[in-house]
Amino acid sequence: MKCKDIVKELADYLDEDLDSSLRASIEEHLGKCKDCRLVVDTTKQTIQIYCNSEPAPLPAETRVKLHDALAKRLHHRA
Ligand SMILES: [Zn+2]
Repeated sequence: MKCKDIVKELADYLDEDLDSSLRASIEEHLGKCKDCRLVVDTTKQTIQIYCNSEPAPLPAETRVKLHDALAKRLHHRA
């Protein structure tokens, strides 16, 4: 699993909408990759602010924006 794969799966990962093997792969990568950990932490905080602690799934539009932002962020480090 590479950083761009993490970005691709991140929204589902944060929604807890992944099968366990994919989830395990992501967590394995996060254990080794500081950049992705930072992205995940930042994204979690953003989602918490956005959702205002309501347990709602991410709206499609937000997922797209998030994906864009993360792709840009990781792209310049790649
Ligand atoms: Zn990574």
